[in-house]
Amino acid sequence: MKIYIDGKYYSEQNAKISVFDHGLLYGDGIFEGIRAYNGRVFKLKEHIDRLFYSAKALLLDIPISHAAMMKAVVDTCRQNKLRDGYIRLVVTRGIGTLGLNPNRCKKPSVIIIAGKIQLYPEEYYKQGLTIITVPTVRNLHSALNPAIKSLNYLNNILAKIEANNGGVEEAIMLNAEGFVSECTGDNIFIVKGNQLMTPPLSAGALYGITRQVVIDLARESGLTISEPNLTRYDLFNADECFLTGTGAELIPVVKIDGRIVGTGKPGTVTKQLVSQYRALTNGSGEPIYG
Ligand code: PMP
Repeated sequence: MKIYIDGKYYSEQNAKISVFDHGLLYGDGIFEGIRAYNGRVFKLKEHIDRLFYSAKALLLDIPISHAAMMKAVVDTCRQNKLRDGYIRLVVTRGIGTLGLNPNRCKKPSVIIIAGKIQLYPEEYYKQGLTIITVPTVRNLHSALNPAIKSLNYLNNILAKIEANNGGVEEAIMLNAEGFVSECTGDNIFIVKGNQLMTPPLSAGALYGITRQVVIDLARESGLTISEPNLTRYDLFNADECFLTGTGAELIPVVKIDGRIVGTGKPGTVTKQLVSQYRALTNGSGEPIYG
């Protein structure tokens, strides 16, 4: 594997960053998780847009332009002869002192890893996931805005640990007001009749790129889409529920906090959206090989 660091490629053994990088010392940095399908990078522009928005919120000066970043991602895929896979793009604050002050970090670092994707086992897609609500509450906007895809994922990691301790793979996180926010690495949707609903971004969800693709696909199919504040009660009484994310794509949820959702099997709207999503990922995106 060839890993891109600041414009150069390194082998896995030699791909290293300083122990003084504030990305490591303080989680001071940002990242993106991107997929390549069939020789194309899916929604690359949208991911790089979100990276630059995260950077702006953190006053982090990305050292290369938007266009150069898009090119670096595609070039790294090509260097690794990737056709299908997962790309992790990281921008750290760079090397500084042991103090917090980001102004001491003179040069942010860009890291791109293009490798294989670790998917949920196929049976979860066929049978649906069982998930639980966990005690760790989503970060407040006014503290650390969940819209920033930062290297500080401890809020999500704590929730993930609680999910694992509860014997399940994913956790539903509520915000400080008790409304449903999202899962630890995925957005959440419910279907009720011909209505598709997902929490508003203001409830503490990431501006998920898969979330937006699903909203657009659902709109094309004539579903009514809304973004109301949702409670656990709304989830329990939904006809269908599914999660969305670049890695997981769309994955059905069939049980929440011991309550069976709908029929207890992946629903028809979910299945329809899965096939629409798969068709889209297969045929669109930034070409890697010209
Ligand atoms: N929420 C969180 C907390 C995430 O980390 C992610 C990305 N893994 C998502 C939602 C889904 O976002 P996207 O569809 O852009 O991958």
